[in-house]
This record gives sequence, C-alpha cells and structure tokens, in this order.
Amino acid sequence: MKKLLILGGGESGVGAARLGLQLGYDVFLSDRGRLSDPYRQALEEMGVSFEEGGHSRDRMVGIELVVKSPGIPDTLPLVENLRRTGAEVISEIEFAGRHADAPMYGITGSNGKTTTTLLLHHLLRCGGQDVGLAGNVGSSLAAQVADHRHAAYVVELSSFQLDGMYRFRCNSAILTNITPDHLDRYNYQFERYVDSKFRVINNMLPEDLFVYGADCDVVRDRVEHTRVVPETLSFTYRDNPSSAAAWMEGNRLVARWRDRRFSIDKREISIQGRHNVYNAMAALLVAMKTGISDDHLHRGLTTFPQVEHRLERVATINGVTYINDSKATNVDSAWYALESMQQPVIWIAGGTDKGNDYEVLKTLAREKVKTLVCMGVDNAKLISAFAGVCEIVDTRSLQEAMTAAVSRSLPGDAVLLSPCCASFDLFKNYEDRGRQFKSAVEELTKR
Ligand code: ADP
Repeated sequence: MKKLLILGGGESGVGAARLGLQLGYDVFLSDRGRLSDPYRQALEEMGVSFEEGGHSRDRMVGIELVVKSPGIPDTLPLVENLRRTGAEVISEIEFAGRHADAPMYGITGSNGKTTTTLLLHHLLRCGGQDVGLAGNVGSSLAAQVADHRHAAYVVELSSFQLDGMYRFRCNSAILTNITPDHLDRYNYQFERYVDSKFRVINNMLPEDLFVYGADCDVVRDRVEHTRVVPETLSFTYRDNPSSAAAWMEGNRLVARWRDRRFSIDKREISIQGRHNVYNAMAALLVAMKTGISDDHLHRGLTTFPQVEHRLERVATINGVTYINDSKATNVDSAWYALESMQQPVIWIAGGTDKGNDYEVLKTLAREKVKTLVCMGVDNAKLISAFAGVCEIVDTRSLQEAMTAAVSRSLPGDAVLLSPCCASFDLFKNYEDRGRQFKSAVEELTKR
C-alpha cells in the first residue's frame, strides 16, 4: 500500500484523507496544533490514523505522497526532509485535480478572489448548472471529488495553494490583479509572488479560457511577455477600449463572448464599487463561455448576496450607514473601498502594519474622509501618514473607536471599517474583527 501523509488537519487535510482512503492509500494525518472536534470526529469515523500536537519522526518514513496544507511553508525542515527522502509534496487541490474529470474554474489574484469565486458560483447556479465551490471558500475539493458531488467546480486559489500545484488544469482561469502581499513568504521578491500567481495558467490547453484584469500593469505586462496557451480575454474599466472582452460604456458594463454581447447598468449589480465591477466582468466572461443565458446572468448579478466582511452594509442608524470591510487587510483593497464611497466617510483603520505605503490613499482620503479613527496597539505610522489630510483620532480598542466614530458622524455619513492592516494586534483574525464591529453596531441599534 502506498503511504500518504497529510500535513494539517483542517478542511483540506480531512478532505484529502477521505479521497486518499477511497483511492486505497495507507493514510496518516499529522497536525502540529490541536484538531477541532468535528474534524477529529470525521477522522475517527473514517478510521484514519492521525496525531495532533506535533509531528512524530517515526511516522514520516517510507512516504510516497505528502498533501500539505497551504498554511505550512515549503521551507519547514520536516517538509524539506520528506522531499529529500523522495516524497512528492503537493496541495490538496492538486491531489483532488488528479482524480477528477469535472471542469475546474480557478480564480486567483491579490484581491477579489473570494468575491469573484462566490459570484461565478452564483451565476452558474442561477443558470441551473450543477457546480461545487471549493478552495479557500466552500468545502474541500478532495472530499467533493471523492463523493462525485458536482459536474464542475469553482475553485478559489491562493498563491500558497498554487505553489503546491503541478499538473492541475483549469478549464477556465481568472487572474483579477496582482499587488504586493504576503511577500514574507516569497523572500520579499515581488517577482516570485507574480510567478506564483501565474502558475494558474500552467497546463491549460488551447480550448481553455484565461481571463485577466487589463487595468493592472503587473498582470498586463506579464501576459504580454509570456506564452499563454489558452484563449485569453481581458476586462477593463475604461470606456470603449479597442481590445478587451469586457468594458464600460457610461454606466453600463458590457461583456462580449464570441458574437454574443451582454450588458447591465453597474448600479443594478447587488455589490457596489469599481472593484466589484471588475469582479463581475471576470465572472461574466467565464459564465458566458459555459452558455448561461442573458436572463440568468442578469438575475444572478442582481441577486448575488453580500459577502461578509467585504464592504458589507451592516445597518443605517440615525442616517449613518455602517459598513464592515474588515477583509481589507492591504492598501489596495482599502483604496477600492474609499473609492466606492458616495458619502462623507468616518474611516476606521489600523492594526498590524504589513509594511504599508499609505501614499496612494492620500488623494482619496482628502476627498472622502472627514475623520480617520485609528484603531490599533500602535498607530504612530498611520497618524504621521495622514497628518494634515483629515481629522485624526487615536484609539486603542474597538469600543474607543466606535465611540469616536459615533460622536463624529452626522446623518448622511458612512462609518467604514476598512483597516488596510492585519488584525492580529487586537483580534484573532479579520473575521473576529468584522464580527465584533457588527455586534458593536447592533448594540447601537438597541440604544
Ligand atoms: P481575496 O479573497 O482575494 O482576499 P475578497 O473578495 O475577499 O478578496 O476581497 C478582499 C478585500 O478586497 C475586500 O475588502 C474587498 O472589498 C476588496 N476587493 C474585492 N475585490 C477587489 C478587486 N477586484 N480589487 C481590489 N480590491 C478588491
């Protein structure tokens, strides 16, 4: 029996165990931390042996295949050792892809992955297709493949996942944009991060479709200097450009596939802001290729539910709209949030700085932000960056930040949480930050 070692016992690891078992592997799962109860129980029910709280060396011999969680770096000595002894190390998506014949629609980029993935999934479902959701959102691809659950899959691919992918083929791929992020995992070399994102087109065939954001210089330049095998289409926010498959005509978003043309007023789309126009364009092109009708596309775009923590409108209280954009953990996503604001903004920002350059936000902040409420353990960098741009309040907790925001807001204003920083100084993660913000807003409604 071939030995399969799974590193990491979360959604993807447990899914890989399920598929491995079905394929007849001798499966062992190892996690450095504690497993959560449902996953431990799932492994026990499947009869998969596992360990938690550390990796024991004696179990790491004679391994042929390793499925590694994307959170574990390649440079970990354990992983290097396994490779040295001849084990092949891949990601769960790669593992699933090797045993699936359903079409895969892969989505990557620095920002917009989750939104575009969910939107494409929604459009295809509106068109009556049997399609699964996997990758960073949704449930494990390997588990779904093991159960033959769907006829096709929409898969969100982070660069960490792409790094563990070798033979995986996307039948359609979307690359939204590339801005500096996670550089700590790429030796602070931006080019390596770009390389990683472009792995999404590896193994694609001429009959496949690659869709990319042409307004992103990094992506456009790379496409122009790379041999791209699949059919390639781009989208842009520009009006009537000469070469794009999706573009703007005034307020209308237009997408063209072969001799078919679909258009919709951007104000009709359920998610707002220029970045969401991009996400809609990308999803539309892939959906059009699969043959979804205009009616279904229109219905899908107008009924797509809000995505939690992404410009999520929480409530309007005394004429003030509260918006949770906690997922904006980098400067680029905060830029799009500010850009989409139609009303004066009380902007709550701050947290763990990932080497941010706030310069690009200043023009928008001057135009739209009344007050910047800094919320973090150390706000010095933020304060000096925006000194003279808008009013600034220095706070150290969510409660203080909320009090400051409420006291400065007038009817017609928006209180926007779009931190452009990671959350780890005051919160567990961005979800925790977003949920705490939403509960604080809920408290206000009760007063
Ligand atoms: P990802 O999964 O790539 O992190 P999300 O869809 O979760 O992307 O969005 C992350 C943040 O980026 C949110 O604050 C969102 O408002 C913003 N965002 C969404 N789409 C885009 C885009 N196409 N370009 C820039 N920012 C975006």
